[in-house]
Amino acid sequence: MTITVRDTLLIGGEWRKPSAGDRIQVVSPSTENVLGQVPDAGADDVDMAVGAAREAFDHGPWRRMPLQERVTLLERALDALEPQLPSIAELVTAEMGLPSAIAAKKIPGAPAAGRLFLRTALEIPESEVLQTPYGPTAVLREPVGVVAAIAPWNSPFNMAVTKIVPALVTGCSVVYKPAPETPLDVFPLAEALTAAGLPPGVLNLVTGGTSTGQALVAHPGVDKVSFTGSTAAGRHIARTCADRFTRLQLELGGKSAAIVLADADPATVVRGIAMGSFGNTGQTCSAYSRILVPAHQYDQWLEAVTAAAQSFTVGDPRDPATTMGPLVSAAQRDRVLGYISVGKAEGARLVCGGGAPEGLERGYYVQPTVFACDDNSLRICQEEIFGPVAVVLPYTDLEQALRIAEDSPYGLHGAVFTQDPQAAAQVTRSVRTGTFSVNSFVHNTHAPFGGMKASGIGRELGRAGIEAFHELRTVNLTPETAPLFG
Ligand code: NAD
Repeated sequence: MTITVRDTLLIGGEWRKPSAGDRIQVVSPSTENVLGQVPDAGADDVDMAVGAAREAFDHGPWRRMPLQERVTLLERALDALEPQLPSIAELVTAEMGLPSAIAAKKIPGAPAAGRLFLRTALEIPESEVLQTPYGPTAVLREPVGVVAAIAPWNSPFNMAVTKIVPALVTGCSVVYKPAPETPLDVFPLAEALTAAGLPPGVLNLVTGGTSTGQALVAHPGVDKVSFTGSTAAGRHIARTCADRFTRLQLELGGKSAAIVLADADPATVVRGIAMGSFGNTGQTCSAYSRILVPAHQYDQWLEAVTAAAQSFTVGDPRDPATTMGPLVSAAQRDRVLGYISVGKAEGARLVCGGGAPEGLERGYYVQPTVFACDDNSLRICQEEIFGPVAVVLPYTDLEQALRIAEDSPYGLHGAVFTQDPQAAAQVTRSVRTGTFSVNSFVHNTHAPFGGMKASGIGRELGRAGIEAFHELRTVNLTPETAPLFG
């Protein structure tokens, strides 16, 4: 197998060697072989990247261009990516273990989402003039400035588009840092944007791990941090940003509850839980990791959830028949197996899974796993595992179901499964999470997405995903100046 070596960083419009020789090895989660290498950018590289972004924002043409021109250029870059999508999908399969059949459908969704951002940006007025008792008043939407965008590994290419395109279209400059586990797939995107004519310094790419991310977040040249990752890292970043009041958007972890009502359609539940609890090998922030079912039907629903878990074909992600690949890394595999041991030690009953599948000696595989338990205070019910592990909890009445769902530090996603629309609406309105789904598991790129409580601050996607990169300015005008801002 060929090894993809990237030995440069995108800084100020040029692909430059890093200032020191440190490297990150990218390891295939299915073969455990090294499949790539990227620079481990140091503080000097970060400083140069932020400096280039700062220069581009303060003195460059990008944010001064008409919005339509920025849209046209970004569209050109997204179009240029089209022929590369199959090879990017292969890269994502290799880097993170996403099954090839799924990657072939998911990766083309990234430029499609990018185009949606561009259309949405065109619908938002850049300025509005209000008639107020104090005279005409303009409210201007201006780009927030230099954005430090940091991503995790669980949806690498799609997330790069989601973080970079909305920031760029508003006129911001960006320094993007992918996860060290999956840094390879963003290079074609950066190349396409550069080739389309993005002015130097508007997009910068630094690869690295935690220390690179920390240097980026702490840099005084950064105006806004757009972070997706763990709640622990988010907390650390929020503290760093507090020093300079750096604008902050945090998309963090979750422990989402799916509430199954007594009248739910079993086939719909199995489909929703399969996708929601075990899709992407459970490495989904919005995963339904707690499934709340009526106590008097407990065995029936436990069986349904077990059927959902066992509906997957776990194996080599390059095999088109595979529907569940490995976890992204040895560390993540060990973390998930650790939580399975904790669950057993806490007294939860292991119903299926619980270890590595037979016959897969190499690779970071864990079987889809279901626990039965009746105590939501257990660690496996409170802490995010980020693997294919679901817990089925009983409730006696709706009030108790809602209490259990809310008994979580997180507030990212949740669901209700029922055939009664009134009951669906009641449950939806009673749960405080940023996103909620009825009879489904959906990642909806057309609408805002984000969390309450420890799941984060702010929203990505939809109109809110564009507005996240705006800073509002209010200008108290005179009647003579008002027409200049209309
Ligand atoms: P992580 O927090 O360890 O790392 C995420 C990214 O942040 C990586 O690029 C990493 O190098 C960088 N990083 C880590 N610590 C940092 C710090 N102190 N300062 C700056 N950068 C730092 O998370 P992960 O293990 O890569 O990803 C899994 C987590 O991401 C899960 O908790 C999951 O729920 C969350 N996630 C959330 C969403 C969402 O939209 N809410 C989406 C996907 C993943």
